[in-house]
Amino acid sequence: KAQGKNTYAFYTEEQTDVTVRYFALEQDLRSALLQDNELTLHYQPQFKLNIYGDAYLSGFEALVRWHHPQQGWLSPGEFIPLAEETRLIIPLGWKVIELACQQIRLWLDAGYHPPLVAVNISALQLLQSDFNTKLDSLVHHYGLQAEHLELEITESLLMQDPEYTENKLHQLRHAGYRLALDDFGTGYSSLHRLKRLPLDRLKIDRSFVQDIGQCKEDEAIIQTVLQLGTSLGMQVLAEGIETQEQLMFLARRGCHEVQGFLLGRPQAASECNFLLAAEHLD
Ligand code: C2E
Ligand code: CA
Ligand code: CA
Ligand code: CA
Repeated sequence: KAQGKNTYAFYTEEQTDVTVRYFALEQDLRSALLQDNELTLHYQPQFKLNIYGDAYLSGFEALVRWHHPQQGWLSPGEFIPLAEETRLIIPLGWKVIELACQQIRLWLDAGYHPPLVAVNISALQLLQSDFNTKLDSLVHHYGLQAEHLELEITESLLMQDPEYTENKLHQLRHAGYRLALDDFGTGYSSLHRLKRLPLDRLKIDRSFVQDIGQCKEDEAIIQTVLQLGTSLGMQVLAEGIETQEQLMFLARRGCHEVQGFLLGRPQAASECNFLLAAEHLD
């Protein structure tokens, strides 16, 4: 608008299409949140790692999937940004937590000893004043313990009201929820903030792991994060492991945990059962 009326000439049909489609998708997401068959979770296994590269199941990360009635399967990248912009991420976030709790309940009832399930929490949702009490009542409703859940937060959250956020995280940690800092290294959190947060886990972003073997700088960053996390008493988990070379690099340097396509893709809960059953035999 600042450019004056002439700007209209550049407002192409294509852009209009994008806007219309975006609006339509928002309406569809609203309706998906009211259905019980469109939004589901996939679970990606996480493993403890020893220095020889042996991996042992330690948890699952819950990742949302949307089966759109016309467009088929949509990945989070296609609707999470829209959900953030429209604040639909708040009801969506609750749906995800509820689905995760339901699944943990099913695993417990089937006699499995369910490992930790990590859920991604948007800053918008966590900063709601009733977040902690709502979470407690959901966990209670399914007869679970706080220890069954890990909340993955991102550095962007730490940019918000620092005192309020820190306080809230301490309350959650105190109640028994585990806390992980996701995509570590891609945001702007200061080390000063980091040391004050009650984090159980640091998740090294896939972008650093990707270049193992090709980029000395990324390797140096990984080593530094490993030392930093370890000295702050946190577990360090590296994400996005796709090759044996990446796995061995991380194992030899004492990375505590790993997650990635090499070891397991996000999959339906039913496909996780064999992993849980194998754990049982140990
Ligand atoms: P994220 O939290 O960093 O999740 C990891 C993403 O990396 C997932 O993508 C996963 O499928 C993918 N990934 C895991 N291992 C590998 C690997 O070895 N190679 C490659 N190339 N990719 C790997 P996904 O499921 O498409 O999710 C993308 C992002 O969407 C997530 O990134 C997260 O930020 C967001 N997201 C997913 N589910 C939720 C949710 O329930 N709530 C919220 N707020 N955000 C979510
Ligand atoms: Ca995550
Ligand atoms: Ca991540
Ligand atoms: Ca990521």
